[in-house]
Amino acid sequence: MEPSSSSPRPRRTFTNFRPRRTEGGVDASHTPARAASHRPERRAGAGSYVPRRASSDARPSRQHTRPIEGGDASRRPYVRKESFAPRKEDGAAAPSGRSIRFVHSEEPRKRVRAQARQRRSTTSPALVQRVATDVRPLAVQPVTDPDLVRIGVVSGAEGIGRNMYFYEDKDNIVIFDCGLQFVSPLHNAPGVNFILPNTQYLEAHKHKIRGMFVTHGHLDHIGGIQFLIERLGYPPIYTQYLTSLLILKRHEEYPHLDPLNIQVIKEGESVTFETGIKVKTFPVTHSIPDAMGVMVETKWGNVVFTGDVRLDHKGEEVVGEEKRYWELVGAQKNLILIADSTNCDRPGFSQPEGVVFENLRKYIRDTKGRLVIGTFASQFDRLTSIINSCLEFGRIIVPEGRSIKTNIDIAIKAGLIKVPAGLIVSAPEADKYPRDKVVILATGAQGEEFAAMSRIATGEHKFFKLDQYDTVLLSSSVIPGNELAVQSLKDKIFRNNSRVVTYQGDNIHASGHGYSGEMNWIRRTVGPKFLMPIHGNHFHLKSHMYAAVQDGFPRENVVVPDNGSVIEIYKGEMLRVLPEKMPNEDLTVDGLSVGLRQEVVLRDRIALSNDGMFVVVASLDTRTGKLRKSPDIISRGFIYLRENQQLLNDARTMVRTQIEESTANSRHIDLDVLRDEVTDALTKFLLQQTNKTPIVIPVIIGF
Ligand SMILES: [Zn+2]
Repeated sequence: MEPSSSSPRPRRTFTNFRPRRTEGGVDASHTPARAASHRPERRAGAGSYVPRRASSDARPSRQHTRPIEGGDASRRPYVRKESFAPRKEDGAAAPSGRSIRFVHSEEPRKRVRAQARQRRSTTSPALVQRVATDVRPLAVQPVTDPDLVRIGVVSGAEGIGRNMYFYEDKDNIVIFDCGLQFVSPLHNAPGVNFILPNTQYLEAHKHKIRGMFVTHGHLDHIGGIQFLIERLGYPPIYTQYLTSLLILKRHEEYPHLDPLNIQVIKEGESVTFETGIKVKTFPVTHSIPDAMGVMVETKWGNVVFTGDVRLDHKGEEVVGEEKRYWELVGAQKNLILIADSTNCDRPGFSQPEGVVFENLRKYIRDTKGRLVIGTFASQFDRLTSIINSCLEFGRIIVPEGRSIKTNIDIAIKAGLIKVPAGLIVSAPEADKYPRDKVVILATGAQGEEFAAMSRIATGEHKFFKLDQYDTVLLSSSVIPGNELAVQSLKDKIFRNNSRVVTYQGDNIHASGHGYSGEMNWIRRTVGPKFLMPIHGNHFHLKSHMYAAVQDGFPRENVVVPDNGSVIEIYKGEMLRVLPEKMPNEDLTVDGLSVGLRQEVVLRDRIALSNDGMFVVVASLDTRTGKLRKSPDIISRGFIYLRENQQLLNDARTMVRTQIEESTANSRHIDLDVLRDEVTDALTKFLLQQTNKTPIVIPVIIGF
């Protein structure tokens, strides 16, 4: 499918957001301005804990004040190119202003298309994508009043995950993020892989979509793109460079899709669309570089969307550059602040990531013996700081786990780290180094059964086994729902008598989301008229509200949404939540199909997992109404048949009697009726005998 041709090509402008900085004689524009908060070496007053590295040079420079149209191509890292290949240094820039469509490799787009067509015409299972079958008319009508600004919460307000929100006015829709949610036991959806935002409303009005602004590269913000972009008519995606790499990396796994129309924007860049709507971005601090907030300009002030955010601070004093960015946002007229609530149930300010970097650095420097570090692969800042500390202290790194390896590759490609030859070593090679020099960077700190950390702990890993000379750092918090798995992982590690350090024992993990003190600071600095907490469970959102109210913000100006909520502001004054909601039933990814949650299927799965199944096969002579032989029984997950022969015999007799009595009394044999009767009788019989209700499937074949 072609990208939405109805999306007018935007005019790209730059805000004067980032003052060109000079610091110690170095033109700050050579390093990403945001680096100060992400990369330790630029953190004000914190230069001691991580050395300056070559990596800041490795990352291509950004020209903040220069429009994309001009300039020396070799100094422009974010030049958009025709392919998703490592950026070349030859300055082969695409002409500016052109809509660039990334393809998966160097292959010409035509060939990729042809391959996609071929896959479609064969039986590519990836195409078995069910369209949402809900055809009820939408309760919410699109905006037609020019004095109305609307914010739609597609999802992200009733749990952590599948973030997707949008701005709508008379002529435009601008989408913020498109994430997925991992399935937890609470969803009661065995076998479902992910839950997606329900985009039915957006699909119905896709001609109004100008673009999708993606704030950062975490899966709860980008993971839904491949499943939903086609339904939304392939709108252009505006995002920063690292995020674009992460999106494109995922896109490689969905070859049946068209190439994405990704517009890489620079830090602080604005986009003005032909309809006149202007969308501005601003850098924010999170646990991944290139995170940004988004603002949509309206007559009554900006609609400000923070994305995931925390503050860079020293003892709750927000540091210079961070402060300046937010103050620049605050200097504008802001209508509503739509802000992260993930950690708003915690008071004060969160632990700065700099403390974590420093602690990990000490462990890497001082630990005798081998060091195994488990962390989230998505925490790019931490990955890069660990790698830099290893470089500093002459330790080699063995990445274990696909996501860690992939993300290290992406970090190198994005210029976040420079990895000299020999720093990263494969597992079979690690034996050649003294154990004091080895750091294993492993996935699976959440206790995932088959991940590297678990295999190393249980001795199932091909190359590594733990012993009393090893130190294991679990540099991540426990995600709610994973407590038991993490306990079990710790048991396994402790059985090897290794030393274990967790985030509770030492400061080796910090969250990427600000606490309520930070969110209050942001709100005060931005100075919006209205506040809408998002990104979290309902209690997170309400906690955010209470924190704001306690901080002096008027209660009546806070709106706490649910998934599917539509919030409207009339003439910049009157705020209301529509009584109707957009469709918000779970849209699920189940194997290879995408569709509304299928309750019937899920009920069967739950029943099967509880009590198993019981199949009885009988062949019936339709002339005599007698069974040819004793029925066959097959069961799975019910009871152990070998030890329950008597029950089986009784069941066979019961089925035979049931069928033969039934056929004896009727002149015409209806096999469907017979099956129903057998199902009822057998279910009752098995319940009486075993106190279990397996799914009973009678197969009656008439001859
Ligand atoms: Zn995030």
